[in-house]
Amino acid sequence: MGKRNKLLSAPLYLQILLGMIVGIIVGLVALYVHAEAVVQDWITPWGQLFIRMLQLIAVPLIFISLVKGITGLKDVSKFSKLGGRTLLLYFIFITVAVVFGIGLGLIVKPGALVDPAAAADMQDAYRSTLTEKTIAAEQLHDEGPLRFLKVIVPDNIIAASSNNANMLQVIFFAILFGLAALMIPRSVVKPVIDLFDGLNDIIMKMVSLIIGFAPIGVLALMAAVVTDSKGNVSVFSALGLYAVTVIAAMLMIMFIFYPLIIKFFSKHSIKEFIRAMYPVQLFAFTTSSSAVTLPVTMKAVTEELHVSEDVTSFVCPVGVTVNMDGTSCYQSIAILFIAQVLGVDLNFSQIMTVLFMTVLSSLGTPGIPGGSFVILTLVLTSVGIPAEGMALIMGIDRPLDMLRTSVNVTGDAVVACMVDQK
Ligand code: ASP
Repeated sequence: MGKRNKLLSAPLYLQILLGMIVGIIVGLVALYVHAEAVVQDWITPWGQLFIRMLQLIAVPLIFISLVKGITGLKDVSKFSKLGGRTLLLYFIFITVAVVFGIGLGLIVKPGALVDPAAAADMQDAYRSTLTEKTIAAEQLHDEGPLRFLKVIVPDNIIAASSNNANMLQVIFFAILFGLAALMIPRSVVKPVIDLFDGLNDIIMKMVSLIIGFAPIGVLALMAAVVTDSKGNVSVFSALGLYAVTVIAAMLMIMFIFYPLIIKFFSKHSIKEFIRAMYPVQLFAFTTSSSAVTLPVTMKAVTEELHVSEDVTSFVCPVGVTVNMDGTSCYQSIAILFIAQVLGVDLNFSQIMTVLFMTVLSSLGTPGIPGGSFVILTLVLTSVGIPAEGMALIMGIDRPLDMLRTSVNVTGDAVVACMVDQK
């Protein structure tokens, strides 16, 4: 009993890691005793259940967190003064991070390390989802250069929200809805805004409940990966290269990109910035949550970097959900990795969709540990990659999450320093 309690009270990331290890062992044992069918019938469905729950929460999460984020901007005049510049900078930073991630993923090709035989086995296992989804995604690409307008603007919001691949349409509606609410006197829309505050708390609770199921989900998915790849260990060396690629990308953003921006576009010296930020980065690293780190970030930005309170109180809270350079860069590498392992050859327009989706979905990623899992399932679905492929990366995600959270909070502080300039 005592032991069981100890296990349940272990930090979630340790439970997930344990889930991964047990899943690998279960898969290997199943291969050894030729019980693959048992894994397929009795274990894999739990992993699929986990993925389904992540997908289930995606549309309401994006909608509610975006509306709450936008209505939190208080009034349009404040929004246009500070908001325009802040959002533009966030947008540029995220785009740079995603392009960088895609570039690295395409050059390093971590997924290519998987043995072709193992890749073929896994592709066989996912064949039905692969073909069905890839065909749907490909159909979208036959409609000319302006097709993205159609992809972004829905003609029916109920229809749009009924398919996770239409996430951009839900984002469009949420932004329009939020902006309209901002344009109406606060007293009139107050009940709706209060409602969204409450809904946001509920949805965040649901996300943590679902992520709490991750250890079992990862165990099941990992067992399936091992049996599907017939125990070929090349999947794990590919996973190692993937992790190294993500770590290298995070370190480059943190120690090359941001310092250069600070040097050339703010009144601070690199040394001053690093000295102010390293405790915040450490805090973000240990908690893996930009939301939890927010007060620490704000304190450092106002007290150590002397950014005005007005700017800090707007830029940092918005940045927690909107600006996630580390997460966006990691997501693009993760998507390319999963595509490479599962043998999905992404064409140019699919890569552009990954870019668009990753940039925009960064707007709705919650700043909590593993917050990007939900969004990852959406982006994968939208380019026709089976979301189950996430099993590959989830077991080793925690250290990468810690690093990308440090990058995320640093990015918010960099933008605060830049906005405070004028
Ligand atoms: N943990 C990250 C954050 O809070 C989000 C994620 O990438 O999962 O910033």
